[in-house]
Amino acid sequence: MTRVFEDDRGAAFGTRAIHAGEREDPLAGAIMPPVYLTSTYVQQGLGENKGYEYARGKNPTREALERTIASLEGAQHGFAFSSGMGCLDSIMKLFQSGDHIVCGENVYGGTFRLFDKLLQHLGLQFSYVDTTRIERVADACTPNTKAIIVETPTNPLMQITNLSAAADVAHAHNALLIVDNTFATPFFQQPFSHGADVVFHSATKYLNGHSDVICGVAAVIDDDIAARLQFIHNAAGAVAGPFDSWLVLRGIKTLHLRMPQHDRNGRSIAAWLAERMGAERVRYPGLESHPQHALACAQMTGMGGMITVDVGTKEKANQVLKKVRIFSLAESLGGVESLISHPASMTHASVPPERRAQIGIGEGMVRLSCGVEDTDDLLDDVEQAFAGL
Ligand SMILES: *Cc1c(COP(=O)(O)O)cnc(C)c1O
Repeated sequence: MTRVFEDDRGAAFGTRAIHAGEREDPLAGAIMPPVYLTSTYVQQGLGENKGYEYARGKNPTREALERTIASLEGAQHGFAFSSGMGCLDSIMKLFQSGDHIVCGENVYGGTFRLFDKLLQHLGLQFSYVDTTRIERVADACTPNTKAIIVETPTNPLMQITNLSAAADVAHAHNALLIVDNTFATPFFQQPFSHGADVVFHSATKYLNGHSDVICGVAAVIDDDIAARLQFIHNAAGAVAGPFDSWLVLRGIKTLHLRMPQHDRNGRSIAAWLAERMGAERVRYPGLESHPQHALACAQMTGMGGMITVDVGTKEKANQVLKKVRIFSLAESLGGVESLISHPASMTHASVPPERRAQIGIGEGMVRLSCGVEDTDDLLDDVEQAFAGL
């Protein structure tokens, strides 16, 4: 009897989330992938080994996670990194000094910081544009453009970029479309089916889903890009550790159960906030008032648990943040527990104030990551926290 789940492509999402990483454990038949806490592997002779030489290059626990993310994104190759930023930094090593990259102007604060404070000084050139306006993406491309990087939905403005249109622009310039799929997850959005070339995640967020690990993952279809990324993975070494890989694998096994509840809670709370505060203050792609609601419905199969609401001033935001009881004031998102944060002073503090103002990240903005608690309890909490505003 073999427990190897070879033909995973035909199985549906939930089945692949649970089984795609599996390989037979020849020693004991362990049903779950063992955590291979080892730095090296015994070799049988010179040039003779079991396919494993040193654990920066390959680790069986990490490989189980890499197979899983490749399967869930509908890709051929998966890579697991020490963090989302470590993952993106390694992806950027696909490029060279002088290459030009078009990046969404409202991306994760740490993404902008990596590009602006580090990679720019190594000779990569960046243009930041509103990627919801696809003509601006096209206008920003130059003969040196090698990649377009988009996050959709964006953090914290919840803007949606048309992935198929962005892929067309990228490919017309012989450039890659790189998508940060952290917010939607492969459960709600499949960027490869819209033409993406590289998809990556902060696995710290929804994929792991339990707020107990820092990890990043990438998926690639093209064999050449995969071979280059594989080389970078080993050569630059920002690899995920075996225990972190195991935790993310365990988290992913319930991704298809968690996401619908994040989505239910997100929709309910967004609807309540829109009613209470006015729809124009609430950014949630599932609301009909969202400027790209139709695109979101066409491109995503669910809207998730992320909501941004503008309460007007930092003082009012602080009032809400201090009053919540079930939501906790913290950075990060995508865990089973609900979190609330103030993007301007937290996740996007590394974005200069003028730039924040320019792209619309206001001092009165509060971001909610709705967890998977019972909807009525979250609604009660939000209701009491927003009372008196
Ligand atoms: C958190 C986050 C990152 C960075 O990932 P880390 O795991 O924290 O390094 C990148 N993109 C998005 C959208 C994120 O939310």
